[in-house]
Amino acid sequence: MQEIAPGVYVNLDFRGCNVGLIETADGNILIDTPMIPSESRRWLEYIRQITGNKKILYVINTDHHRGHVLGNQYYDAPVIAHDLAWKNMRGYGANFCQRVVDSFKREPKIQAELADLRIVRPTITFDTRMDIEHGGRTVRLIHVGGHTEATIVIWMPEEKILFAGDTVWWDQHPYMAQANSKQWLDALRQIRKLHPQIIVPGHGPLTTVEATEPLSAYIRFVRRQVRIRIRRGYSKQETASSLVKTLVPMFSVTPERRGKIESQIKQAINRVYNEYKKDAEADDIDEDVDKDAVPEEVEAVDQEVEDGATEDEARIEEEFSEDDSRSVDDDSHRGDEFNDEDDDDDDEDDDEDEDEDDIDSEEIDD
Ligand SMILES: [Zn+2]
Repeated sequence: MQEIAPGVYVNLDFRGCNVGLIETADGNILIDTPMIPSESRRWLEYIRQITGNKKILYVINTDHHRGHVLGNQYYDAPVIAHDLAWKNMRGYGANFCQRVVDSFKREPKIQAELADLRIVRPTITFDTRMDIEHGGRTVRLIHVGGHTEATIVIWMPEEKILFAGDTVWWDQHPYMAQANSKQWLDALRQIRKLHPQIIVPGHGPLTTVEATEPLSAYIRFVRRQVRIRIRRGYSKQETASSLVKTLVPMFSVTPERRGKIESQIKQAINRVYNEYKKDAEADDIDEDVDKDAVPEEVEAVDQEVEDGATEDEARIEEEFSEDDSRSVDDDSHRGDEFNDEDDDDDDEDDDEDEDEDDIDSEEIDD
């Protein structure tokens, strides 16, 4: 638990996600909730130690992923989230709860704790933006999408603190299995415009706005590489299998997580592939191009900086593709031992569309 500004606290030690506490004169506002019941109770104890018996005004969920929402039941306060988070969480029924329990099969103590799991859905939802004014604080909820269709960030304009949820990842592969990559790039640009002094990401250590640059570069790199392959007529599976090995070393990955990361990256590639196929941007892709006969100038066009990227950003991308030895040993993968074993890898079916409402494809830890 650390105080990052007067009355603004974060805890980066819980499994599932980072959580925040904003103290106001009227009561407390919480951001996301620990997914392990004993950790959610511990968080509540910390909150009581710091703020006494102050009422909890709201719990805000930055997206609908289980790592952020499973603890909602412990705080006896209305939950605020995006309209689409509510829609996604409507599907969290008995099967979902059972799968959550099953995902801890190597940790029977946690399985026992989860016997009382109760899904608390948002009761207050919004579409584009919501301001909360309470006890001398302004807390602004902004829909950005990108990581998921429902992803929001929480901006404190006075303190210049941004709770970025899973929009910002520092030195680890972003979870993109439910992402819209174009929207994600827009979200990162929007964040840079806010000029935050501190960014609290959904996972890993506190960071600053600089963390958004390598992430933008990574997402643009994935997009460009996928686009090149689509132009060459690659299938979704060919695209994923030819690209995954290039992407893995771009962020540090421990050997024991490599398999899982590879499968997440494949999901990311499939996702971007579908995006291009669906998108109007795909209009300029000639699907009949023989993959062995791509003219040089097509490659050259692909090297151009897209999406308004600066030269600096392009340089970062180059560094990415050259440096295969990035390896930072830190704590940022904490909580990632929750396996996405029920995440579907659809690379055996090129034409299958991910169903965003399918809770099977929903991540556990992010
Ligand atoms: Zn998430």
